[in-house]
Amino acid sequence: MSVFEYAPAPESRSIVDIASSYGLFIDGDFVDGTSGTSFKTINPATEEVLSEVSEADAADVDRAVAAARRAHDKVWSTMAGAERAKYLFRIARIIAERAREFAVLESLDNGKPIRESRDVDVPLVAQWFFYYAGWADKLDHVGLGARPRPLGVAGQVIPWNFPLMMLAWKVAPALAAGNTVVLKPAETTPLTALLFAEVCQQADLPAGVVNIVTGAGATGQALVEHPGIDKVAFTGSTAVGKAIARSVAGTNKQVTLELGGKAANIVFDDAPIDQAVEGIVNGIFFNQGHVCCAGSRLLVQENVAEELLVRLKARMSTLRVGDPLDKNTDVGAINSREQLNRITDLTAAGDAEGAERWSPECVLPDNGFWFKPTIFTGVTQAHRIAREEIFGPVLSVLTFRTPDEAVAKANNTPYGLSAGVWTEKGSRILAIAGQLRAGVVWANTFNKFDPASPFGGYKESGHGREGGKQGLAAYLQAQEGDR
Ligand code: NAP
Ligand code: MG
Repeated sequence: MSVFEYAPAPESRSIVDIASSYGLFIDGDFVDGTSGTSFKTINPATEEVLSEVSEADAADVDRAVAAARRAHDKVWSTMAGAERAKYLFRIARIIAERAREFAVLESLDNGKPIRESRDVDVPLVAQWFFYYAGWADKLDHVGLGARPRPLGVAGQVIPWNFPLMMLAWKVAPALAAGNTVVLKPAETTPLTALLFAEVCQQADLPAGVVNIVTGAGATGQALVEHPGIDKVAFTGSTAVGKAIARSVAGTNKQVTLELGGKAANIVFDDAPIDQAVEGIVNGIFFNQGHVCCAGSRLLVQENVAEELLVRLKARMSTLRVGDPLDKNTDVGAINSREQLNRITDLTAAGDAEGAERWSPECVLPDNGFWFKPTIFTGVTQAHRIAREEIFGPVLSVLTFRTPDEAVAKANNTPYGLSAGVWTEKGSRILAIAGQLRAGVVWANTFNKFDPASPFGGYKESGHGREGGKQGLAAYLQAQEGDR
């Protein structure tokens, strides 16, 4: 299939003002880090250095936790819910007003296409704050009895794949429930969190309610191990999640862990095939496949596999890979050289184990980190590419004959975050969804998010839920008498 020649349609980056260096956001102000060390954040599409960001050490984390504690005890937890809601509504409105600025900055720092940061990430961020603003004065209805109390200070650590969205998923429910937070963004994507800090100032949020400590893994570790926090909320890899679970064991800290995934996207022979192909593409190539709930294992019924693969390859040949700021781009840059190496290594294992690799023709830019949209066929359940999370634009295709076989293969994974089912029959959707050990099951769609809907995993995908009233309850405790 030939691809239309589109003229370049670059989004202007003049709307964002990136400072040459940033400090930490502690107690309402940008401050220098104690150690004076810093790290660079780059644009992964060009390898251009965007800014130099302070690295927080244990002393800085201590200052941030102390500020959060003061703000919790003196201001935020004692404020009426309706008053807290006003701040959250204000933050939501400012994000909506500054949406284009946030979208461009997110695409620059992360490498994701502007089409996605503009149409998915940033609108969802505003929705998350609007949604939890609405809950702030209704905590009696969360299911924890009358007047549930906040947990206190939350230490929150987030990954690089949806930098601002993961911030919103963590900060909005915590604040609505009356907690204060210290948040550590990922090392490769700190810039939208720092712009969010400016939004907190613009919204006149009381000092210390939100604190942002930038840095690498050591900063995250100092935060989750700090004795002054009451709750750890982590999104990231299963390996780090396990280390965190060990470190908080035996303490009074509550924990929510949102970890990896290896989701099955199951296509039955009665599914509308073109719609399923769109869902498969959205499931694995959205955000370069840097998605914990990505549909990275396609399970297709054997009698339609051949036809589906022909159509999938034709559709993949129309994907535009390249400049994230071009509004026509479908697949942007891989977030870091390290992640590109991980994808390259795992796909090499796919070749070595005998699976068959296919990618459409596409010209990749010379600089930056890129990986062609890729599918592997002839994959068996024993292959590493069927078992391990690749976290890139790589789909492993397996087949099945019966619904029972589909369920058994879908559940044959240490993860359990999400799954997809494609079929014309409503009864089959319900029957299959009920047997899948996955926190979210999408039917005839994929990668849809809504603040009212709880999201989270089974097994090694973590525990606890974010979103909905379940996500709010994770930041609350019942009054003594109600327990
Ligand atoms: P990661 O290495 O676990 O990093 C996540 C965050 O933890 C980063 O901020 C990281 O800092 C920090 N960190 C690293 N070591 C730490 C330690 N020992 N103690 C405390 N914090 C530490 O994960 P990643 O590779 O960046 O992110 C991809 C993973 O996240 C994937 O496995 C994906 O499935 C998962 N994910 C899950 C969800 C979900 O909701 N379930 C959503 C998105 C992503 P640095 O930035 O310096 O590494
Ligand atoms: Mg970056």
